[in-house]
Formats: sequence, structure tokens, C-alpha cells
Amino acid sequence: GKAEVRTSLSPLYEVISSSGGPAVDFIRSRVGRMSERWTRAALRMRQSSNETFPTQMRVLLYPGALAGSVGRRFEALVDRGGPLGELVQWADLGACLTILGHNLTFSTSRRLLHSLIGAAPGRGSCPIQRPLTFDLIYTDYHGLAHLHGAMGMAFPHYQCRFRILDSFGTEPAFNLRSYARSRGYETLWGSWGLQPLQYLTMFPHTPDNSFLGFVSEEAAREDSYRKERIAVIYGKQDYMWQGKSEYVKAISDEMETHATVYQPPGLASNLPGFIRNHGLLTQERFVQLLRRAKVFVGLGFPYEGPAPIEAIALGCVFLQPRLHPPHSADNNDFYKGKPTSRKVSSQHPYAEEFIGKPHVWTVDVTNRTDVREAARAILLTQVKPFTPPEFTCEGMLERLRGYIAHQNFCSKSAPTWPPESALRMHLGPLGQSCVSVCRRSSLVCEPALFHHLNGPAAFARLSIGCSSMGREANHLFPSYSPWGRHCALQQEPLLFSCAGSDPSHRRLCPCRAHLPGQVALCPDCL
Ligand code: UDP
Repeated sequence: GKAEVRTSLSPLYEVISSSGGPAVDFIRSRVGRMSERWTRAALRMRQSSNETFPTQMRVLLYPGALAGSVGRRFEALVDRGGPLGELVQWADLGACLTILGHNLTFSTSRRLLHSLIGAAPGRGSCPIQRPLTFDLIYTDYHGLAHLHGAMGMAFPHYQCRFRILDSFGTEPAFNLRSYARSRGYETLWGSWGLQPLQYLTMFPHTPDNSFLGFVSEEAAREDSYRKERIAVIYGKQDYMWQGKSEYVKAISDEMETHATVYQPPGLASNLPGFIRNHGLLTQERFVQLLRRAKVFVGLGFPYEGPAPIEAIALGCVFLQPRLHPPHSADNNDFYKGKPTSRKVSSQHPYAEEFIGKPHVWTVDVTNRTDVREAARAILLTQVKPFTPPEFTCEGMLERLRGYIAHQNFCSKSAPTWPPESALRMHLGPLGQSCVSVCRRSSLVCEPALFHHLNGPAAFARLSIGCSSMGREANHLFPSYSPWGRHCALQQEPLLFSCAGSDPSHRRLCPCRAHLPGQVALCPDCL
């Protein structure tokens, strides 16, 4: 069949209503709250798109973090201040795929997963592998292990159809098991050997992966005027407040300070007395509170969540800690074991780098004077609500439609999207990754274009005279080493990597332009 744009989310309600639990309740209520916006975006999409419809995909959504024993632990935290960002993403992914007209199945049960995709009991001890009836399977790292268990021998054959929701990203050096093992990049989560673009991130921080994102809030017309002298502190559990009392006090000296911290019944609150704590709110009531507030205050944790984007969309200023030295797997327990070498320079690097002032203030929170001055200055500024286009329904629909139409990881040949015409080749300075080389030119690194510059011709085009040329599996290649004028090519396509830098290598980088406010897509690529 053809995938016709739908203007109603009712097919989604039908598939998710069967399972229960607080996590699925959160997803369902978010879908309900946002359904009108999705419908409006769908109507606009219908008007603007041409009459040719893409093929309808049979899609399985399997959030592994909600299944089995991990799922029970996760579910228990949903109403107690546990992480909700992934649920936001699953809700929006489901809505987006429904609007795009695809055929969805949703499950959080391992048993159901086995009956949907597992081998049928065969004769004796020899199970019969049935052909997979899904074109695409969206899951997460937990679900990947479940799929592996259910599919057995057929797993490598079908893994090209998987898409992995992975908030913080997986860099190629951590993804290829043999390489990770021999070079010291082995982690708890990595090493599945998928194509790096099959991992879908929450923010566009790792161009080696695909940016999935979510949909932020929509401001009402009056949101920038109805602001009260209110700060809302970002943090659903009280451990996030540890060591931050001076910072919070400095802010509360300037304005009324509210919080939405989960309060276990019968226990005394650990929060300072001047905080007005609402307890954990439903998303709807949380959003209402942000509409009144002038400032949303980050405590340093959680990293890179959706809430600051929502607050900025509702006209708040986001005030957050600079992290100096930056946090990474080397010095921080949260990032330890995550398959990324990223160094995070503030609580929310996307807010800092892609949005910035006047919406985002990144300060040294150990400096009381700086905090006080920032708080006072913010109270004096008029800031309009702001939503980056990539965090709107339209933006997410456009992006996901592009991925489904053009990303094919089952083909044996090199990627053809984006087209070679999008390539802007750059030779970086020593010690810089292609992520930063491209960003410095207001471009983005595009790993699907690496294969075009992995040959002697690319070096010639940049007028680099190579005295020697080699080919090796190394995530820094292709690159140029000025000592001995050595040119190095990549031997293992899975190791093409935008991330990765080394003081003795100048990296050859495949940059491309992007649509304004939509980093994932290039102009003329759809
Ligand atoms: N949120 C909520 N109630 C609250 C505070 C936050 O429903 O009292 C929602 C918020 O709207 C956001 C989601 O929780 O969409 C995830 O928030 P956060 O940025 O804290 O990320 P997390 O660490 O939970 O993934």
C-alpha cells in the first residue's frame, strides 16, 4: 500500500491502548495533549505535498527499556521523578509515523516480541525462522538485546532494519566490536556493529548518528507578556539539588522560586524552606507553570533533556551551569560507559550552542556575583518564545519522512543520500574532529558522504602532495599527517567518523549545508 498522510492519531491510540503501566500512560496522555497540533501539521503537509505517496512501511515500536525487569524498574520511577525524556520521544515518534501514514505495531512485552518476530518452534531442537514481517523496527539498546535473543541466527540478516533510540549517541569507534576492543573503546553499551546512522539521538550532537529529536511546546500569543517574577528550578528528584544551595539561594534572593520535585509521602522535604515545591506535575500542569515563569534554572543534571527546550518555547530564559572542565566518560559517572567521547561543556550544550542568548545564559554557578547579575539582567529583558524549527511537528515530520524515504541500510552499496552535490570537502587543522571542522564553517559533518573523499583524487583536489599513501581501519581516516606528508585512507566503512581527533592528524571532512533550523536535512536533498 501507499503511505497517505493521516490527519488523525486514532490508529495510534488503538495500538498503544492495549498495554498499561505508568510509562505507557505518560505516552498516551502526551499523544492526546498534542494531537490537535499534529492534526494541524498534517493538514498543512497535505496541502503542500504532491500527489505521489511513498510506500507504506510496516513498523514495530519496541521500547526495550519498558520491557522485562528493566521495564519494571523504569515504570516504578515514572511517577517518582525518574527520566521522562525517552517517553517524550517514543510518544512523538509514534505520532509522527502515524501522521506519515505508516502501519504501526507497539509493544513493551518481551513475550509479545517473541511471538511477533521470534522463530517458530520447528521439528526437534531446530526452530524455523519465519520471514520478518516488519520493514522497520524502532527500539533502544535494551530492546536490541531482546531482539537478539528472539531472532537468534536471523539477527545479522535483519539488523539493517533496526533503528535505535539512543539519546546520547554512539560514535563509530565504540560501535565496531573488534576495533573498540583493540583500541580501548569498549563500553557497556556499544559494540553492536550497526551502521552508525541507525542510532537516533535526542539532539543533533553526534552527526555520525541520525538526529531524531522530539516536538517541543507551542507558545500562546500572550506567553511573553504574562510573565511573573518566578523561577522554576529544573530537577525532579532532590539528589539533583545536592551542593547547589548557594546557587539556588542567589536566585531566590531575586525572585520567587518554584520546584517540581517528587516528594515521597510521609518523608520530610530536603528542599530549602523558601522553595515552593509543587511535587512532580503532570506534563500539562508543568507546562502551565512554565507559561507563568520568567526563568528556568538548570542545576547541572539531568543532561540534555527536553525540558529546557520546552521552557524556551514558552518564553522562559534558561539559566544553566557551565561545566568546567567539561563532563565526559573520563570524569563523570553518568557518561562513564556510554559509547561516546563527547565533552559536555554545559548542562545543555544544544541550548548553549544552537540557541544561546537572549534565551540561554550559561554561567559559572560557583560565582555568586555572576549568578546574581545574570538573574537581575534576565528579569530586565523581554524575551519572545522561541522554538527551533527542527523541534516543531512540521520539522519532525519533514525529517522523519526524509529518513524513511532515503536511508537504506540494507543495500550493499555505498549510500546515495545526500547526493554528492551536497559535499563540501574540508581539510581540518591538526587536532580537530570533523564535527568541529564543519561547524566552524556553519556546515555539518555528513558521514554518508565520506566515501566520496576516501581516495587519492580527494587529496589531489585539495592540492595535497602525498609522499606516501596507506589504507587502514582507523576512525580518524581519511586524514593527512604533515610529518612525512603521509596520506591515510579508510579501510573499514563502519569506521567513517565525524567524531574523533588527534594532534598529529589533519582530518579530511565531508561537510554539507543544512536547512535553516533543520540540521538533519540539506537544501535540495529531499
Ligand atoms: N516533566 C513533567 N513534570 C514535571 C517536570 C517535567 O511532566 O514536573 C516533563 C517535561 O515536560 C519533559 C519531560 O518531563 O518533557 C522530561 O524532562 P527532563 O528534561 O527532565 O528530562 P529527563 O531527565 O526526564 O529525561
